[in-house]
This record gives sequence, C-alpha cells and structure tokens, in this order.
Amino acid sequence: MTARIVIIGGGQAGGWAAKTLRDEGYDGEICVVAEEEWDFYERPPLSKAALLEADASLPRLFSEEMQQGLNLKWYRPLRAEQIDSTAKTVRLSNGEHLAWDKLLIATGGRARLPNQDWAKHPQVYTLRHWQDAQRLKARLASSKSLAIVGGGWIGLEIAASARKSGVAVTLFEQQPALCLRSVSSEVSLALRQLHSDQGVDIRCGCGALELEDNGGQPVIHCDGKRETFEAIVVGIGVDLNLELACGAGLTLEQGIVVDAQGRTSSPDIFAAGDVAQHHRYGLCIQSWAFAQNQAVATAKAMLDDAAPGYEEVPWLWSDQYDRNIQILGIPQAQSRTIVRKDPQGMLFFSLNADGRLNQLVAFNDARTVKLAKRWMAAGRDLSDVPLADPTFSLMSLR
Ligand code: NAP
Repeated sequence: MTARIVIIGGGQAGGWAAKTLRDEGYDGEICVVAEEEWDFYERPPLSKAALLEADASLPRLFSEEMQQGLNLKWYRPLRAEQIDSTAKTVRLSNGEHLAWDKLLIATGGRARLPNQDWAKHPQVYTLRHWQDAQRLKARLASSKSLAIVGGGWIGLEIAASARKSGVAVTLFEQQPALCLRSVSSEVSLALRQLHSDQGVDIRCGCGALELEDNGGQPVIHCDGKRETFEAIVVGIGVDLNLELACGAGLTLEQGIVVDAQGRTSSPDIFAAGDVAQHHRYGLCIQSWAFAQNQAVATAKAMLDDAAPGYEEVPWLWSDQYDRNIQILGIPQAQSRTIVRKDPQGMLFFSLNADGRLNQLVAFNDARTVKLAKRWMAAGRDLSDVPLADPTFSLMSLR
C-alpha cells in the first residue's frame, strides 16, 4: 500500500480527499500543505452567514473531533513551491522537501483584481478566505454605500447580504447581463429583476472601470462619470493556482487536464477541485459540489485503479434574499429556454434542438432539480412536454 500521500491545498477538495482516504481504509501517512492557518472550512457561508451573523464562527468542514480522527500531518501556513515529479518530492516555502508516493494538487484559486492599483487600495475588498469575510463584515457594519464590481455569483451573493444589512449597493458588470457565462439570458434577466426589486443599482455593460482615490475613499471612474464609495468589493472571477502544475510539466488547458479518476498526465499525481478541469466539459467548474464530489472520487482512485471515477452533472446553488437558486448542467449555444412560473418559484429549462435538457435553473424548487437529474441521465426528449404550463404537473413525468 502507498506509504505517504501529500495533499497540496487545505480547502474543500483537499479536506474531502483526506477524509475519503481514511474512510476507504488508508492507514499510511497523509500530509497536508496549506497556505492558511485554519482547519478545512466551507466557502459558501463566507458571502452569507459569515457576513450577516454577529457571532459567525469558522464554517468548519468537519468537527474538530472528526478532523483529529483523520490523523493528518499539517504543514501550515506554508506554500508548496515546486514539485519534482521524477524525485517525487515537493519543496515547501520553509525550504523543506517533502517526499510523496502519491500527490494530490488541490490548490484552488485566488480572487482576481483588474490591476495592482486595486490591490493596493485599502478600501478595495475581495472575498475568498475566512479573513476576507471578517474584514468585509467589519467594513459593511460601518458603511452606507458599497460598490460591487462583477455581476457573477460572488457579486450577487454579496449584494444580497449588503442589502439585508441596509447598505446601498451599486453593481458594475462588464458584460451586457448578469452571470452571462453560466446561465441563459432569461435567467440573467430574472436575477436582474430580483436584485433591482431589492434596490440594487445595476450597471451592466459598464466597460473598463478606473479606480481613483479621494482622500482615502475609492472612486470609480466609468464612462466619464466619477462616483465615490465607502468601499468596493471586487468579484470578477478567480485566477487558478496552476503554477505548481505548470512547473511540474503537467498537461494544462483551462485547468489541469485530468481523467474521470482525477489522474493528471503524470503517473501518481492527481488533481481535484477548482484547478481540475472537468474531463467531459473541458471547463473548471469551481463549485462546492464539484470540489467535494470530484475530490471524493479522486481520493478513491488514488487507492484503487478500478475506482469508478467522477460522472456527475455540474450543479451549484446560490442563496440570494429569499431565493434558493439551483443550477443543474451547463448551458449550450443555440439552446431554447422555456420559462415556467409557479406560485412558489420559477423554472428555466434550456433544451437542445433534440429536446434534451442541457440546463435547468430553479428558483425555490429543489424537487424539480432532482427530477431533472434523472431526465438528463436518461437523455429524455422534452420537446412535446408543456413545460411552461403551471397547471401541468412535472411530477407526472417521473
Ligand atoms: P464569476 O461568476 O466568473 O463572475 C464574474 C463576473 O464579473 C463575470 O460576469 C465577469 O465578466 C465580470 N467581470 C470580469 N471583469 C470585470 C471588470 N473588470 N469589471 C466588471 N465586471 C467584470 O466570478 P465570481 O463571482 O468572482 O466567483 C468566482 C468563482 O467562484 C466562480 O467560478 C463562481 O462560479 C464561484 N462561486 C460560486 C458560488 C456558488 O456556487 N454559489 C458562489 C460564489 C462564487 P466576464 O465573464 O466577461 O469575465
């Protein structure tokens, strides 16, 4: 049996991989190299409960007791700086060389900023780590106005939390619509309506923004107009931490190319979570569900070549105001979206020309998402189904 497994990354994927290795009976050494000082924690609460609850504590992935039981050797807070895939070692930022028999890269990403000027301004915030949430929470508590740059998932979730805290929000998105890359234009419009109804001032198609300073307060210069805010949160995507994988000569595209079992182009090196490119979709999915379940499948494959691998349809959820929004699947070009409004929520079915569902977005309707997973798995043709008719029972299609 493998003697030592090294996991680089102390996030969701690293955590679930470590737990799965133990659950599967691995009793060798597990070393975890992590840049942060904390035990594994969940990121979804950072934009919600961690900002809104007065006494929010670290949203631990596993209880302290459970984590103790994993018997991990932590190397933190430290950076892994170089992988030698021939000698099978990784060099750490303290100069130590750690030998491994199998290696898992779960290095995640870092919040992107337009340029260094934004990084230097003390009132420009990003949200990726526990400390970021603490800092932003303190700022929101003393702010009346906030600008959010980026109308993706992080921007919208922070907008909802800020509005719940009574802070005025202006949101700048460079695309003509919100979350344009991940959902259909119909869903984008519904998101826009949801946030406009809550008083968010949304500026889509804003073009390149310039940051200026007015006596310590950040100023956004957009289309010849200058506006001063108390703080700015930037949520314009993530730069993946691919440097280690690149230095190790692994095959990269959008992320690290892996097979269904999370295996990279180098034997005995695996990748999981945000940095691992989905083997079917050719995309880095960057969702909570992928980070967890692809890491679980990969950890199993690290111990057993015959493990089944990861085959789930991409799924993510986002809580905004009183809406639980679930997104199943990836939208395809040329698809047709059918909108259904029920008393309890809304559904957006995106169908291929052959009537198969490629994406379902559900506002407050988890039941239909479960059903849609089965339709997708079966490749069901929905062309003749009156999906838009709220009197038609979708459950009759079970
Ligand atoms: P995101 O979802 O990729 O959205 C970023 C948005 O900002 C995009 O629409 C992007 O447009 C826009 N943008 C880029 N540069 C800009 C600029 N200079 N000015 C104004 N807008 C700009 O990224 P995110 O919201 O930062 O989230 C980071 C990652 O975490 C994403 O992968 C996201 O899916 C994930 N996440 C998931 C959840 C969840 O599952 N609930 C919650 C939070 C975050 P372009 O597309 O043109 O770049």
